[in-house]
Amino acid sequence: MNDYKKILVAIDFSGSGNIVINQAQRLANQLDAELSVIHVLDNIPMPDTPYGTIIDLNTQSSDSLLEDEKNKLNQTCDGMNIAPCNRWMIWGKPQEEITQLAIKENIDLIVVGSHGRHGLAVLMGSTAKGVIFNAECDVLTVHLKDDQ
Ligand code: AMP
Repeated sequence: MNDYKKILVAIDFSGSGNIVINQAQRLANQLDAELSVIHVLDNIPMPDTPYGTIIDLNTQSSDSLLEDEKNKLNQTCDGMNIAPCNRWMIWGKPQEEITQLAIKENIDLIVVGSHGRHGLAVLMGSTAKGVIFNAECDVLTVHLKDDQ
């Protein structure tokens, strides 16, 4: 087995986000690995912003929706002692930005939540499936119950 020295956890601010990040942090502590966090912005309008744009978490903008998202990421990371340089907010499609950042940052392990959905959602694909399919490193899926 590889030594996992750099772990990237992907969080979506749903109710299950805490479960996923807590598992990732526990694992990072056990392995003495560096933990980075990514949230991909895909839910607010970002006109004229190309996919893949890294959002500066330290510079304030006049966009209140964007500021809300930045605050959520910073508050989550503050609570977990994640260094500012290991916090990532990127505009784009989650599965693509997560796997691209993992390559760029030489990540050994990506941690994502997975609902293990059935039916149509399986045919359409989920973020976890997309990450597993596109990642060049190992991927750990944290199993989430349907109501999480
Ligand atoms: P979903 O496919 O939407 O059920 O999401 C499964 C998992 O993918 C979540 O638990 C997160 O780990 C990750 N994920 C989904 N959306 C995002 C996002 N916008 N940014 C970062 N990670 C995400």
